[in-house]
Amino acid sequence: MPRLEPIFRNRCTKIVATLGPASTDPAVIESLFRAGVDVFRLNFSHGDHADHAARLATLRVLEAKYRRSIGVLADIQGPKLRIGTIRGGYINLERGKALRLDLRDLPGDHERVQLPHREIIEAARPGTRLLLDDGNIRLGVKRVGDGFIDTEVLVGGRLSDRKGVNVPDMVLPIPALTEKDRRDLAFALEHDVDFVGLSFVQTVKDVQEARDLIGDRAWIVSKIEKPQAVADIEAIVEASDGIMVARGDLGVELPPEDVPLVQKDVVALCNRLGRPVIVATQMLESMITAPTPTRAEASDVATAVFDGADAVMLSAETAAGQYPEEAVGIMSRILARVEGSSDWQIRTGERRLPPDRSAGEAIASSARHVADTIEAKAIVAYTQSGATALRIARQRPAVRLLAATPLGKVARRLALVWGVEAVVVEAVERMADAVKEAASICRRLTNAKIEDSFVIVAGTPFGQSGATNALRVSTIRGAQEP
Ligand code: PGA
Ligand code: MN
Repeated sequence: MPRLEPIFRNRCTKIVATLGPASTDPAVIESLFRAGVDVFRLNFSHGDHADHAARLATLRVLEAKYRRSIGVLADIQGPKLRIGTIRGGYINLERGKALRLDLRDLPGDHERVQLPHREIIEAARPGTRLLLDDGNIRLGVKRVGDGFIDTEVLVGGRLSDRKGVNVPDMVLPIPALTEKDRRDLAFALEHDVDFVGLSFVQTVKDVQEARDLIGDRAWIVSKIEKPQAVADIEAIVEASDGIMVARGDLGVELPPEDVPLVQKDVVALCNRLGRPVIVATQMLESMITAPTPTRAEASDVATAVFDGADAVMLSAETAAGQYPEEAVGIMSRILARVEGSSDWQIRTGERRLPPDRSAGEAIASSARHVADTIEAKAIVAYTQSGATALRIARQRPAVRLLAATPLGKVARRLALVWGVEAVVVEAVERMADAVKEAASICRRLTNAKIEDSFVIVAGTPFGQSGATNALRVSTIRGAQEP
């Protein structure tokens, strides 16, 4: 295969795109990558392991071909509740009528429908609301019996087989990972995915449970899609490596008018705590069937960038839509356009956070300050765990941020992080070698010329993760590079 010139992207906000039936052909995946995807999402709510393995294999080929790290997010379905089947495929529910939900494994009808989740039936109370089919149908619990609940249809409509059920009013007494989730997680970890998406996180305990299984083999991205998670948000963000504002289910469980403010608050909190955050779902929804987005959708993407998101995500647009490449293309253009504006640059500067009281934070903040003051071409962060690059990204420097790491898996993780362009380098041992290497990286990845300056941040001794403790300014010299 021909070795192409590496691809570099000239924007800070990253793009996550979901693969699915519309994007299984390697040529389509390649076109999405070229159009701007930084992290690909494998959605374990759909498809089998063979499908995901084939897509992963394609991604690893592309990574080698373009010499650019590609992050992979395995999104685990989580305890998604569903009703059973319905006789004839669907029923029409009328407002005010009674409907029983029970555990019997029989096709549903106008009288009763299966809800195969004993815990929910037992935990329900009169007044508990059940939202079916993304909230299109609403039931109110009237009476709880042994193995069934009697409900009243509050909002009716057509209910078909296996539709999802949301229960916003209670913390569900169920584990964060089902049996299927555990199998999917094992598969994902065996295949060295970079991020695991945890669905329907309710409390920080759910994150800790997943951490016990995952350790640091992958970054844990907790999906915020339940009001209970919003209530426990600070602890959840602290315990996670990244966050997704999963507006699809969130907007079912909370009134839609609450979603924009939750998005703003969660993004701000993640910025403050230095955790990458993805804004997800319905960003360019109309592009599932149309080659251009609505103006409102273009504005939604821009808003996420202004809010300070590390990444924006496409779901059905690229997984099942008719215009996957166009969706990535326009998303990428919106990001670049916003980031090119003085309005965004000013706002990003205003949101810069004071460092907390650690040497690493102080050095990251100083690096940002020095680089911006002397208009350095770049900050080059030497990073073993990714932590040094994350700290500097948190400072939102105005100059390019390049991360140099000997570990491919760290470079892939950094694909999700705002502003970071990660390259895999040979391990270095001495600062002088790091400076030399950094100069050569700047020459390759930026338009730096002789006499241009750059800033290096590192933790020494090299090769150990932990402290960020060194800051150095250097200039590109002609003889230095090969
Ligand atoms: P999902 O998560 O696509 O896995 O449901 C995203 C969301 O709910 O927004
Ligand atoms: Mn969801």
